[in-house]
Amino acid sequence: MTKIRMNPIAELDGDEMTRILWREIKEIVLEPFVDLNTEYYDLGLKHRDETDDAITLEAAKAIKRLKVGVKCATITPNTGRMTEYGLKRMYKSPNATIRAYLDGTVFRTPILAPGITPVIPGWIQPITVARHAYGDVYRAVEMETGGRGKAEIVFTDESGKETRKTIYEFEGNGIIQGMHNKLSSIESFAKSCFEYALSLHQNLWFSAKDTISKIYDEAFKRAFDEIFDREYKDKFESAGITYFYTLIDDAVARAVRSKGGFIWAMKNYDGDVLSDMISAAFGSLALMSSVLVSPDGCFEYEAAHGTVTRHYYRYLKGEKTSTNPMATLYAWTGALKKRGELDGNDALIAFSNAVENAAMETIRDGIVTGDMALLMTEKTESADSETFLSEIASRIKM
Ligand code: NAP
Ligand code: MG
Repeated sequence: MTKIRMNPIAELDGDEMTRILWREIKEIVLEPFVDLNTEYYDLGLKHRDETDDAITLEAAKAIKRLKVGVKCATITPNTGRMTEYGLKRMYKSPNATIRAYLDGTVFRTPILAPGITPVIPGWIQPITVARHAYGDVYRAVEMETGGRGKAEIVFTDESGKETRKTIYEFEGNGIIQGMHNKLSSIESFAKSCFEYALSLHQNLWFSAKDTISKIYDEAFKRAFDEIFDREYKDKFESAGITYFYTLIDDAVARAVRSKGGFIWAMKNYDGDVLSDMISAAFGSLALMSSVLVSPDGCFEYEAAHGTVTRHYYRYLKGEKTSTNPMATLYAWTGALKKRGELDGNDALIAFSNAVENAAMETIRDGIVTGDMALLMTEKTESADSETFLSEIASRIKM
């Protein structure tokens, strides 16, 4: 059989157990069928340290240039890791560096597997959550007044002119919080959401609370509305998908009653809370895929989980672990499919779909990793990661 050829994507290797899975996925599932063409960036912590983290920015630039990247989970250093790896400094999270460079938004989608029923059984298709990852309460300034007095909000413009509003006149001790957001960040968020909805061919919801927050949340709503009308209305119409805004409380009620199959964009805090609720309701973090989308349409695919440290230490002792490779495998199929779509490479798209179908068939045949076995409605034995991947490879129909 001749192998499928492709244009390059950026490949970002990572750490610990996911680094082991990374190699196995390539060797067992992908390389027998595809002449993998990647620009390889080793984001393993040791190499990040050797390059003073320059490698992370280089990788981000490669994603921008090539339009598509696939990333393995990486360690975000803390004090424990400083000693473990003898690091020169405490580097920032690679994901934060890449997201800042690409000005992107993260979309998380659960992988629905046969035999694993979501807690809300009506959800027959995945719900993708897009969380705005800048500002609001995460960058807030807070204080306790310590007693009676007047709290004000003051803005001083470049010329020194002050605008002020009273927040509250306290009759006793109280608390205050000041939040901000940038219109440029909100606009990038909106564009990434519209781009990704077109890419997935799914309807887009955006929810906030503009009835209560008539300036702050209203600015989010307006940015989405204006960008949609100006740049995306026609594209959405021809793709047969819709965009709609609704209040966050209404959106929650509608989502619970929905069949799934849409993208739900939210402000930072709403996205923080509801993405955890949705991933728990669909099953496990090991079945959650993630993609970073930039407003100019660059895509970086990865698993939502981390490097699965506990399993790695067992692997180092020579144990065969039953770590779930699904989310990392789907990061690869997502990236290859996107490469195929951008280049009109139908063979590559067909192969990515065939891998996903083979994975579903493997699970349907009762061959699963330990975490999935616990979620299955029927009692199932668990396979180690390598066996699971080999079973998938043997079911690929090209
Ligand atoms: P984690 O790697 O997601 O693992 C937490 C636990 O969840 C595991 O111990 C395991 O539970 C279960 N789990 C996660 N993924 C699994 C999989 N594929 N298969 C089976 N079980 C899975 O989170 P963490 O232990 O908090 O973080 C470990 C490292 O990952 C940290 O250094 C952190 O900085 C990094 N991290 C990276 C990313 C990223 O690159 N995107 C994201 C998050 C964390 P059991 O042990 O009970 O089996
Ligand atoms: Mg959270």
